[in-house]
Amino acid sequence: MLTILVSGCLGGAPLRFNETGVPVSSPIWQRWASEGRLVSLCPELAVGFPVPRPPAEIVGGSAADVLDGRAQVHEASGRDVTELFQAAAQHAVDKALQAGVGLAILVDGSPTCGSTYVHDGTFTGVTVAGRGVAAEALRRRGIPVFPHYDLDRAAAALAEKERQHGNG
Ligand code: SF4
Repeated sequence: MLTILVSGCLGGAPLRFNETGVPVSSPIWQRWASEGRLVSLCPELAVGFPVPRPPAEIVGGSAADVLDGRAQVHEASGRDVTELFQAAAQHAVDKALQAGVGLAILVDGSPTCGSTYVHDGTFTGVTVAGRGVAAEALRRRGIPVFPHYDLDRAAAALAEKERQHGNG
């Protein structure tokens, strides 16, 4: 049975920068939870960020650029937290590989967990297509990442992986 890496704030735990969580009411989620598939991780907390914490955004490029040292992650004050976000991404990869996850389901829009969009680095609420730093690092290691609102597609991908692995 393949496991699934999930954002630690998914399910409602109030771990986000603004002390909120992201509730999930899908029966798919409940089934995965009862099967013991969910491997929960907040990469930002894992590297020492507190709750609450200042909002952070990717500036000067994409998540791939952050991983390659060509862009940064800043807090709204201008504090450069790039190294912490790189470490958080590595932590997510390590945990995913250790747990042998089949895929990841992460909260979209986050500079760490975003899988289809992030904020544009201006701290004005504007979003752009792109990934968070951990989501990009997972994708580079061959671990598919799905946004938290797309559990049907994630479930289909998981079933296909288990079929390929003879693991169903
Ligand atoms: S880093 Fe990811 S898991 Fe942690 S609070 Fe933000 S969206 Fe949730």
